Amino acid sequence: MKKIAIFCIPAHGHTNPIIPVASELVRRGNQVRFYSFDEFKDKIEASGAVFVSCSRFLPELTNEEKEALKKSSNTEMSIQDIRTTLKMDSFIAEEFKSFMPDVIYTDSVCFWGKLSALKYNIPMVVSTTTFAFNQLSSKYMKFTSGELADMIFGLPKISRELKTLKPYGYNVKSTLSLVRNDNDTDTIVYTSENYQPYSESFTDHYLFAGPSISSELVPEKNNKRPLVYISMGTVVNDKPYFYSNCIKGLEGMDADIIISCGRHIDPESFGKLPDNFKVFQYVDQLDILSRANVFLTHCGMNSVSESLYMATPMVFFPQTGEQGAVARRASEIGAGVYLENDSPEGIQAAIETILSDDSYALAAENCSKEFRSCPGPAGAAEFIETAPHTATKPDLLKESAKAGGRFRILFWIIAVAVMILFGIFVTWKYVWIIGVVAGIFSSPVAKGYQNKAYEKMAKKYRAER
Ligand code: UDP
Repeated sequence: MKKIAIFCIPAHGHTNPIIPVASELVRRGNQVRFYSFDEFKDKIEASGAVFVSCSRFLPELTNEEKEALKKSSNTEMSIQDIRTTLKMDSFIAEEFKSFMPDVIYTDSVCFWGKLSALKYNIPMVVSTTTFAFNQLSSKYMKFTSGELADMIFGLPKISRELKTLKPYGYNVKSTLSLVRNDNDTDTIVYTSENYQPYSESFTDHYLFAGPSISSELVPEKNNKRPLVYISMGTVVNDKPYFYSNCIKGLEGMDADIIISCGRHIDPESFGKLPDNFKVFQYVDQLDILSRANVFLTHCGMNSVSESLYMATPMVFFPQTGEQGAVARRASEIGAGVYLENDSPEGIQAAIETILSDDSYALAAENCSKEFRSCPGPAGAAEFIETAPHTATKPDLLKESAKAGGRFRILFWIIAVAVMILFGIFVTWKYVWIIGVVAGIFSSPVAKGYQNKAYEKMAKKYRAER
């Protein structure tokens, strides 16, 4: 039996996957304290873990900060994360006097969880609710211009804020070092190894547990007419124009349509709904997905995983770079189409494409089977109980970087030899040109060699698996 402290940020998408793992940890006899926020009290208590409220440590927000958070600004989230860490510092110190955890299980962007593990030297397992992102898998993310601007202009602000952590014993170089996935930290990812992009580039400090879903529900698509489900998630979902377009576009369709419009919108505001529509602020998404024939989604990682788990094909409408990465992977396996145009006609056409071609449902069904064979919450619980882990699988990223480094040295030995020979046998006057050309080409050529080396190792690894 272990003492386990769980830390998470106040967000459904980050909290939901941890809940089944918390239940499993409790069921296996561990002592679990879940540090979270009042909004999540009921579901945390239902898991059997002890809920510890941290709501009083959330910083007061100005209207400007609230707006930035509504738009999912990474800068604002980082700043508020740092401020919350400071506000929680003495509380956590007090807590750990009576409950010093053996392991901390913390969300990947929950700074106070990660920093507490480092400060008190406690083994840490990180919960990653997106794909694991490293230099390869992050190629799946295409940031919007707004996100890029937010990152570039936000950096100085974050650096200033990070400095405030130092006097409290938290030595952090950059936010990137806090949020990125690395190959030395024990990490649980809620997807399958197959579905994770570039999964071979992660060491066995990673557990690909599969979607963290404890529901007993299985896909049951025996509807009299198709069931269409529409949701833009729980964070950036304040899009009345979009839901109105869905109503206009699908009102004549021989299908039942359910919209989850989020807490910012009153369903009454849409007026009298067509007979085939129901609009709610929040629904039991898993239940609906188990029956739905198509899901129009913003492509949050949880929503897409749940959809695939319930064998429901999708129409992808990603709003952020991260959601774009999730959509791209689901599209690669053939489980849906992109919404190219969010007009009523565009929405109708995309939904009809999915309903008229069984291949999308089949791709989702195949993925559902694979997800259901993953280690799941039980595997995740075991991974947490047995942390810290040692990795035996080779780190392909490090190995290929070493191969690239060796190639670069060889490249320069040859370049210098050519320069000397040229000097001796032709002329010393123009030797510098060879040096300049070698300088220009050394990096791209070495990078190309490194990529080739990676591909070769990855192929071998996949063949041996
Ligand atoms: N969710 C739900 N009911 C709703 C809308 C969302 O239960 O009406 C849940 C959904 O099942 C998922 C989470 O909220 O687990 C949303 O997470 P996701 O990562 O998809 O998106 P986010 O809300 O973080 O943008």
